[in-house]
Amino acid sequence: MNLPGSPWIAYTDGELVVEDVPVNRLADEYGTPLYVYSRNAMRTAAASYQDALAGRPHLVCYAMKANSNLAVLQTFAEAGCGFDIVSGGELARVIAAGGDPGKVVFSGVGKTRAEMRQALQAGVRCFNVESEAELDVLSSVAVALGVRAPVSLRVNPDVDAKTHPYISTGLKGNKFGIAHQQALSAYRHAAALPGLRVVGIDCHIGSQITELSPYLDALDRVLDLVEAVELAGIPIRHIDLGGGLGITYTDEEPPEAGVLIGQLLKRLDERGHGHRELLFEPGRSLVGNAGVLVTEVLVLKPGAKSFCIVDAAMNDLVRPAMYEAYMGIVPCKPRHEPTRPWDVVGPVCESGDWLGRERELAVKAGDRLAVLSSGAYAMTMASNYNTRPRGAEVMVDGSSVHLIREREQVPQLFAGEKLIRR
Ligand SMILES: *Cc1c(COP(=O)(O)O)cnc(C)c1O
Repeated sequence: MNLPGSPWIAYTDGELVVEDVPVNRLADEYGTPLYVYSRNAMRTAAASYQDALAGRPHLVCYAMKANSNLAVLQTFAEAGCGFDIVSGGELARVIAAGGDPGKVVFSGVGKTRAEMRQALQAGVRCFNVESEAELDVLSSVAVALGVRAPVSLRVNPDVDAKTHPYISTGLKGNKFGIAHQQALSAYRHAAALPGLRVVGIDCHIGSQITELSPYLDALDRVLDLVEAVELAGIPIRHIDLGGGLGITYTDEEPPEAGVLIGQLLKRLDERGHGHRELLFEPGRSLVGNAGVLVTEVLVLKPGAKSFCIVDAAMNDLVRPAMYEAYMGIVPCKPRHEPTRPWDVVGPVCESGDWLGRERELAVKAGDRLAVLSSGAYAMTMASNYNTRPRGAEVMVDGSSVHLIREREQVPQLFAGEKLIRR
């Protein structure tokens, strides 16, 4: 059976393996729910961006909100990547993982002054600024520290990424970025402030994008601005085209990173911008199909609608509940028995707590299932709802297995809480 996504996660000798290691063996050792990642899938994904950009000045900044485990960051740092961060907490993770703050771009619509100070002191490569008001605040924070903050303005190119509305970010009427029409005056504003140094321009139009055209449209809009801003005497050093490239969850056919970049480079060359340094901020496409969430079947409730109740839930993987996202669900050891449609649901007390609906499976209590494409926006969006400890994470590298996060224990979950003195 062919699985969508990554060649590193497949069936060998009748059971699911991640690289060289059977998933059932990992579940025996580490328990479930368990996030399992393929290190070589991550390396290969990073290389697909980097190889396409070889020979050009570039930096691939992994958007770490997709999966911020320290060992994942370490893997990308070793591959030469920088990081796209959205909080001071993420910056602390980059440093803890041995990443270079000089390769960090700091995105996000609402950075606090404390986060700005922290990032300036760490020496991040640039701030992706999302509003005119943020320019003033950042400048004053930088002046107080006696430095100049390197800035790139996140412009909203007003293109339709043709993706889910919750993950589309490049249309006007969206909270992200500076409107195209205001961008030139925002650049003038930035160039006039004492605490700022303009270094680039960026955009990020959405997530799980499966077509090329929105990227090419966005690039054209960004290049129009680059030309206008430089005509106004403000040099732009780098162009950051954000992230957003989709992955195959079921039957999507997103372009490969190399194809996307090839098309973008061609357009840049045609328009005379081939010399510019290029940045990308991929998240999902670097890690999404590098991971699975392994869960055990607790009980079966067959009926008019049949429920397969598993030990992973919306707190472990919220994408189905939040975006009605489809994620592949496969048995770790397929049974050669007739299948029937099951709604695969978790134990959380919410009707929205489902992982997959109407899935044709042959299962029995005690079997393990793997939710595919769970390397991105899975563990990082996990919560402790229903006082459920978050699962362990393991990284497979060939036949080596590394426990990269221990399973949480219940007492940790309320360790910071206090009873009221009577
Ligand atoms: C989330 C985000 C990304 C990464 O998006 P993916 O769809 O995971 O590639 C990149 N840049 C910014 C500013 C983001 O908010």
